[in-house]
Amino acid sequence: MKIIKSKSDLKIYLAEEKKKGNSIGFVPTMGALHKGHLSLVEMALSKTDVTIVSIFVNPTQFDNKEDLAKYPTTFEKDVELLERINCDILFYPSVDEIYDGNIVSESFDFDGLENQMEGKFRDGHFDGVGTIVKALFEIIEPDIAYFGKKDFQQLQIIKKLVKKYNIPVKVKGMPIFREPDGLAMSSRNTRLSKEHREAAPFIYKVLKKARKKNGIKSVKEITKWVEKQFQEHPLLELEYFTIAEEKTLISVEEFEGNKRYRAFIAVFAGEIRLIDNIRFKNN
Ligand code: AMP
Repeated sequence: MKIIKSKSDLKIYLAEEKKKGNSIGFVPTMGALHKGHLSLVEMALSKTDVTIVSIFVNPTQFDNKEDLAKYPTTFEKDVELLERINCDILFYPSVDEIYDGNIVSESFDFDGLENQMEGKFRDGHFDGVGTIVKALFEIIEPDIAYFGKKDFQQLQIIKKLVKKYNIPVKVKGMPIFREPDGLAMSSRNTRLSKEHREAAPFIYKVLKKARKKNGIKSVKEITKWVEKQFQEHPLLELEYFTIAEEKTLISVEEFEGNKRYRAFIAVFAGEIRLIDNIRFKNN
């Protein structure tokens, strides 16, 4: 695997590959890789000729300085994991290489997607995400880019970004990878204390139980039930639970015809903020 740190070196390398007619698959990450990340890389490897993974902890998408400072980094292990599955290129730029001394976000209008859920609770988060993904797309010009449904709102926002800016890349959403106990894999899981780690699978258990109530109880009743589960939990604090339409991400109280819905949740396990989501069938 080639490790490339500069934009210009990467562009030169990719220009050669494109000249040969090779397709480019891209997986942006913030490192501290786990099986969820690797599933995206493996998909890119199987569908495109050249697979490039980026590792970049993007400062502009963090509204919480401590979260940024404490974001886990396991660079050597990441390289080993990527080499093991034969990833072609790792793009590992510095903050300066990307932001050139000016660490600010562009301001985006994602037709309101940015104002729901994570957007309400993480100030400027999606401006940061839009800024870095747009920049990476401009440097790499991939044919296909892979994103996890773990960050479903982010996935919808990237699809909107590509549409609004006419960026010629196919954006693919990939399934959520979970630990055997159901906890959605996340780099932040490594920061959980032992007792919070043991408590955290409760989040997915509640999501699954909520889904079972769908069709029997109303959205309002399901939401109240979820809130109660967390009020009674000694270690986990609910930030939000909402059932929203997949396309607009607007919360609903009733399901309509042929639309798709999903339940979204954010929970604090001590200082660590965890998110998850689950598809809700429209009965
Ligand atoms: P991150 O490093 O957290 O920015 O994530 C990089 C990419 O991996 C994003 O597209 C995430 O949605 C995706 N991802 C993170 N965790 C998971 C997971 N548990 N399952 C599937 N994809 C994931």
